[in-house]
Amino acid sequence: MNAIEFRESFRKFLKNDERYKKFVAIINRGRDSRLLFWQERAIEQFCEKHALKIPSFVVLQEIFSVCELHGNTLEYGKVKVFCGHVDYSPDYTKACAKLFPNSYMSSVNGPEEMYGENYGIRFCKACREAEQQWRDEHAWQG
Ligand SMILES: [Zn+2]
Repeated sequence: MNAIEFRESFRKFLKNDERYKKFVAIINRGRDSRLLFWQERAIEQFCEKHALKIPSFVVLQEIFSVCELHGNTLEYGKVKVFCGHVDYSPDYTKACAKLFPNSYMSSVNGPEEMYGENYGIRFCKACREAEQQWRDEHAWQG
């Protein structure tokens, strides 16, 4: 089973698109580098059904490296780590979650020792286009 087959049959296995999207979102943007309990259970059951070895988190990250909104493969990029905490407006935060969850256009908030450095991220091209459009419409400079 290759990554695409794995993803597609897992999506069908979950029988719920919202759940699948949440699964992908947590793998891509979760705070810890591990699965949540329900995700672990789902992967275990899926692997058992297909007689597969349970992939490590790193492998799962590769398999599910897609935008949960647009479905395309995430690309590697770098953004500068922002000094201090960026205070995004509620409008922006809402739009981001809904329209461009994997944009990573702006600098990211990071730990102090990383200020000014470039941080490897994965982004979705379609998300970036959506963010640019949103920024243009809202005259927003971030
Ligand atoms: Zn996207």
